[in-house]
This record gives sequence, structure tokens and C-alpha cells, in this order.
Amino acid sequence: MTSGQTITIMLNADDEYREIREAIRDLCRQFPDEYFRAIDAQRAYPEAFVAALIGAGWLSAIVPEEYGGSGLGLTAASVIMEEINRCGGNAAAVHGQMYNMGTLMRNGSAAQKARYLPDIAAGKLRIQSMAVTEPTTGSDTTRIRTTAVKRDGRYVVNGQKVWISRIQHSDLMILLARTTPLAEVTRKSAGMSIFIVDLHDALGNGLSVRPIANMVNHETNELFFDNLEIPAENLIGEEGQGFRYLLDGLNAERTLIAAECIGDGYWFIERATRYANERVVFDRPIGQNQGVQFPIAEAFIEVEAANLMRFKACALFDGQQPCGAEANMAKYLAAKASWEAANVCLQTHGGFGFATEYDIERKFRETRLYQVAPISTNLIFSYVAEHLLGLPRSF
Ligand SMILES: Cc1cc2nc3c(=O)[nH]c(=O)nc-3n(C[C@H](O)[C@H](O)[C@H](O)COP(=O)(O)OP(=O)(O)OC[C@H]3O[C@@H](n4cnc5c(N)ncnc54)[C@H](O)[C@@H]3O)c2cc1C
Repeated sequence: MTSGQTITIMLNADDEYREIREAIRDLCRQFPDEYFRAIDAQRAYPEAFVAALIGAGWLSAIVPEEYGGSGLGLTAASVIMEEINRCGGNAAAVHGQMYNMGTLMRNGSAAQKARYLPDIAAGKLRIQSMAVTEPTTGSDTTRIRTTAVKRDGRYVVNGQKVWISRIQHSDLMILLARTTPLAEVTRKSAGMSIFIVDLHDALGNGLSVRPIANMVNHETNELFFDNLEIPAENLIGEEGQGFRYLLDGLNAERTLIAAECIGDGYWFIERATRYANERVVFDRPIGQNQGVQFPIAEAFIEVEAANLMRFKACALFDGQQPCGAEANMAKYLAAKASWEAANVCLQTHGGFGFATEYDIERKFRETRLYQVAPISTNLIFSYVAEHLLGLPRSF
């Protein structure tokens, strides 16, 4: 089987989204491997690619039609993300836009939606950033120390965040902060609120940003809040309910990232298959050796299986059903499958896998992130153990 046949089979399997897949593949053809390789080498942001996606309306796919979007669901959004990665790109440059605007769409007031969504749909506003993680609390989100105190019709924010991505390429940011001290709430998940922060107003006026150099070309930052003032009308939903609102957004984030890992997984398998067919050593294609072909076959099976859970999570989310378990499991399975496919692809390429011009080492680094962010594997195990299996809570 050639790599071309492999892609055809994969496309036919999801006929419903074939048009979206083909359109994204057409767009991605304008941004070949060389483009993403150069962006990675320069540690730059793929601005031309993002502008093309916005221009073609892909980043407003889930905005309701009444606000100028296409009114599609998370499943369609996940296919868009998957295809970007499957074509060799990195949807991490844009995925925040999808799940952050979902938070606004589901929990924002009519006035907030009317104010922001038409401009988001028109590509005039980017809502790429979400600030949750803090340096001292890590995965223990309910202990965040960033506070927002209401004073004279405004919220005054103080604290610190870390690993907050795409700040330099966003107009708006979703911020999680404590509005009631932990000691004063009955449930530790209560008393936190989410806000829309206008980054243009905030930068230099109580918000400062320090970029973090990191292993992947992922623009991410430390944030310092020093009496940042946010208008009270930028509170999303009810004060104190922010963690609950955020969970929906986190489920969308995990599901979309699962789809990106699926895209990566297929990309690695296609490259490994192609190379295993072409590379001749000991007078035969290396792929003729079972020691080479079996790991590729195994990785393919794992990606296919993870893909089922990804579509299950998407369908539940789009049907407004609880999907926390499936979103977590999809992210776990897909991140594991893409990481295994990455290893196999590198191994299949031997020394050439390490050469930048093959793009494998770049995609290898990029897909590794998803074992850790946006939620680390252990925290998913903990969720499943406690919430699905009824085992004692471990922390
Ligand atoms: C490139 C990048 C981009 C990011 N972008 C964003 C962003 O835009 N917005 C944002 O809010 N955050 C962002 N993050 C943060 C990311 O969500 C966190 O890094 C992730 O949730 C893990 O948290 P932590 O790094 O604080 O690890 P920690 O919570 O310190 O955990 C460290 C390790 O210990 C393990 N561990 C901790 N507690 C337990 C336990 N009880 N049982 C078993 N194991 C445990 C974890 O699984 C992990 O492996 C980003 C991170 C990276 C690296």
C-alpha cells in the first residue's frame, strides 16, 4: 500500500467532513513543510498561515450564524484542527480561538456576545489566550492566588500566571481569578470567576508579560498582574461560578487537542510508511522487514482507536451532554498514540529522522507537549480513577 492510498482510505472513512478536510488541505498546500520549518527555525508566529485561515472563515466556524459565523459544532472544529496537523502544520497557533470563543458563546451575556462575536467572526478580533495556570499552584487550579477584587464598578486584579500562550497574537484573553478567598468558600471550586481581558487596554496598565523560551515554537509567557483594572461588565456569567464555566471550555480544549494529536499521528504514520517503502537497505525496502513494519502497523491501530474516542467526545459535546470523561480519555489516548507514532516515525527514518529538513524532529517535539499540556497524563488517570471508577480521591 502506498502512502497515497492510505490517505484516500482515511478520507473516505469520514465522508461527512470530507468537504472541510479537502478545503483545509487545499489551504495548507500554500503552506508546505518549508514554511513551517522556517517558522520553527525563526521561533516566529505563522502569521501568514493564520491570516489565511481567518480570511477563509475557518476560525469563526463555530460562531453562530446570527453573529456572522458558520454555526458549526465542535466536531467540525476538531476536523479543522486535525487537518492542519495532518498536513504538517501546527494548530497550536490557533486552537485557543476555538475553545475560548466557546466559553464566551456558552456563558457570556447577550451584550458581551453582541459586542465581541461579530468582530471575532469577521476576523477583526482574536481571542486566542486563556490564563489559568499559576507558578505556585500548577495543576491544583482551585488554589490559584490571582485575585480579582470588586471596587468602584471595576475588578482590580493582582497575581501571577505562567505558560499563558499566544498573548502577543491575541486581542482578548479569558482570565480565571479568585473573587472570594478560598478560606471563605464551602467548596474549593467555588469563588472563582472568569473575565474577558482586553489585552490592548491591559498591557502596560497593570499587566506585564515575559516570554518563556521553550522546547517547541509555542509562544507562551509569564504574566504579572499589578492592580490591573477590568470593567465590571467584563465578568463572564455569575461571580464565583467561573470554574464551572471553565470546565466546558477545558473539555472543548482537550477534545480539540486530541484531534490535533490524531492529525499528528496520521502524519507520522504516512511519513513512516512512505519512507519504509522507499528506503532500500540490504537490497530490500526496510518496510519489508517485520521489525520495521509491525511498529508502524501498531501505531496506526492506536491512532485509529484513539480517533473513535475523539469523535465520541465531540458528539457528546455537540449534543450538550456531559463529556468530561470522554474528553479526558480522548486526549489521553490521542496524545499517547501520536507520541508512539512519532517515536516509530523517527526510528523508521534512522539518522535522517534527526535532520531538520525531514520535519520529523519538529513534529516530534510538537506532539510531545500534549502529554503535559493542557492537562498532564497523571491528572487524567486521577480523574478516571475517582470519577469513573469510584476510587478514593488521591489529593
Ligand atoms: C507550551 C505550554 C503552553 C501552555 N499554555 C497554557 C495556556 O495557554 N494557559 C494556561 O493556563 N496554561 C498553559 N499551560 C500550562 C499547562 O496546562 C500545565 O503545564 C499543565 O497543566 C501541568 O501543570 P504544571 O506544569 O504546573 O505541572 P504540575 O502541576 O507542577 O505537575 C508536575 C508533574 O507532576 C504530576 N503531578 C502533580 N500532581 C500530581 C498528583 N496529585 N498525582 C500524580 N501526579 C501529579 C503532573 O502530572 C506532572 O507530570 C501551558 C504549558 C506549556 C508547557
